[in-house]
Amino acid sequence: MNVEFNTADVKALRTLLEGARRIMLTCHMSPDGDALGSTLAMRSLLRTMGKDARVITPDEPPHYLRVIPGARTVMAWSSFGSRVESLIAGADLVLCMDYNGISRLSRLGPAVEATAAPRVLIDHHKNPESFTVLTFSYPDMSSTCELTYHLIRAMGWEDRIDTEVATCLMSGIITDTGGFHYNSNSPELYRVLASLMERGVDKDRLMRWLVDTHSAASMRLEAHAIAERMELFADDHAALVVLEKDDLDRFGYKKGDTEGLVNKPLAIPGIIYSCYMRQEKDYIKVSMRSLADFPVDRLCREYFGGGGHLNAAGGEFRGTMEEAVRIFREALPRNRELISQRALEYADR
Ligand code: 5GP
Ligand code: MN
Repeated sequence: MNVEFNTADVKALRTLLEGARRIMLTCHMSPDGDALGSTLAMRSLLRTMGKDARVITPDEPPHYLRVIPGARTVMAWSSFGSRVESLIAGADLVLCMDYNGISRLSRLGPAVEATAAPRVLIDHHKNPESFTVLTFSYPDMSSTCELTYHLIRAMGWEDRIDTEVATCLMSGIITDTGGFHYNSNSPELYRVLASLMERGVDKDRLMRWLVDTHSAASMRLEAHAIAERMELFADDHAALVVLEKDDLDRFGYKKGDTEGLVNKPLAIPGIIYSCYMRQEKDYIKVSMRSLADFPVDRLCREYFGGGGHLNAAGGEFRGTMEEAVRIFREALPRNRELISQRALEYADR
């Protein structure tokens, strides 16, 4: 159960971690289970080594991620502002986990860019930017949590994976695979999971919190979204769900309430990719998901200034909902060229 790391890089990471006292663990805006799970796992492990390790996020994580041990200790730039900027400025080391470029940090970016502390990237998104002294970029990993597990082992710290660390790591694997629904065909992943279970993880409880929990309001919003706001483009194998401010207000939308909604249309036979657009205060949040080899990261990058993974990507579109919807519709015929035989077979049930 080993990943091919560059031995010198692993040694360098270990030396950096051992030599640092104040270690800041950062992740992308709108933190998800993998962003939080990977940073909180390292926080927990480093604290048992006597380090002053803290997780710093651009904005507050959603409520349902509180099941991850240590989630309440996270310091968000949106709440702590200059205090977290001082922490990053005064750090001995900054870990950049589950993101591949400074722009993913939103308004936390300038502080991470300006720090004199060395930065280390630990991530599974493609095309990492070069802003770190060490880069562990493994796009084939299901999650940054899976990668973090392998790195901890490679550094010889496997014994430091206690129940808490293992629970954090399991959380990110669960959320980045949608509860083992996608990106989870590697046999290796199940060896990692078995090893985490041996450390006492309550996997069933995590699944309930992270996958099977919906507030009544969010369940109603999702039902409304599918009944009234989902459009299917059968010939293009595509689905689009649009939620405007009115929709969100009517159901008392709270951050995280539509987590998972974008996946729903993929259940429909024939649908290969799905797009969900939500009106935010000053942008349109775009989320896309796909089956097989249909590249939604490419669409998000080309049309909405975003990015992500082959099958799960997103973006923040600075424009109106009408424009965003028009761009999506106009791209449909062009996107047909991206539909492979394999994707058609995947979608055909
Ligand atoms: P989600 O749809 O859950 O927000 O994001 C799905 C995936 O796309 C995640 O891996 C996330 O990191 C990536 N992603 C989401 N929004 C953006 C964005 O604005 N820019 C880039 N580069 N990636 C994004
Ligand atoms: Mn991730």
